[in-house]
Amino acid sequence: MPGISSAPGVSPPLAPVTGPRFDLPTPDDASRPFWEATREGKLLIGRCSACGGAHYYPRPFCPYCWSDQVGWEEASGRATLYTWSVVYQNDLPPFPGRVPYVAAVVDLDEGPRMMTNVVDCPFEQLAIGMALEVTFRQETDEITLPVFRPTAA
Ligand SMILES: [Zn+2]
Repeated sequence: MPGISSAPGVSPPLAPVTGPRFDLPTPDDASRPFWEATREGKLLIGRCSACGGAHYYPRPFCPYCWSDQVGWEEASGRATLYTWSVVYQNDLPPFPGRVPYVAAVVDLDEGPRMMTNVVDCPFEQLAIGMALEVTFRQETDEITLPVFRPTAA
């Protein structure tokens, strides 16, 4: 697509979306490093140096011990499928052009649980516990979303 270039490992945008859309986050000061990293094809999680816990979504304090001694860590990108739902109807843009799609919750190898989409997988092959790896889908110049696909055999 003219004017948009993607980092290696980042898929280009799907069909262009015009008008309002309901699938994009609004980065703030706390989350901006996360969204800068996804543009580079990296998935960041939070790591607490007080208790050692890993967390997602990243926040400026630890959700286990409330310490503010938290930093960023690049996740391995490996995960397993915890649960999923195939979404056949969603009237909010841009989803009508994307159904059916897989809304999923995955367990990152580092521990945190994450809401995402599973892509590049026939629905009948979805299975709880299946191995997944992160991949990235560019949505706009600013936002690239982490999504998951079956781990390459
Ligand atoms: Zn902690």
